[in-house]
Amino acid sequence: MPKPVVNEDACEGCGTCEEMCPEVFKVGDDGKAQVIGPDKCNTCNCQEAADTCPVQCITME
Ligand code: SF4
Repeated sequence: MPKPVVNEDACEGCGTCEEMCPEVFKVGDDGKAQVIGPDKCNTCNCQEAADTCPVQCITME
């Protein structure tokens, strides 16, 4: 199963991915989303989160 990867340089910390997939993404204190649960994509729709990210910095690899 593909796992989500965040390009932290491009992330603007909007929190949308965390809202959609709270078990997978978390916006850290630095305002950048981190992948906290790369294997939890079965609990949500990471592809939709990737498609919704305003700066398209989530890729499924
Ligand atoms: S949706 Fe994109 S820009 Fe927003 S916090 Fe997540 S990775 Fe960052």
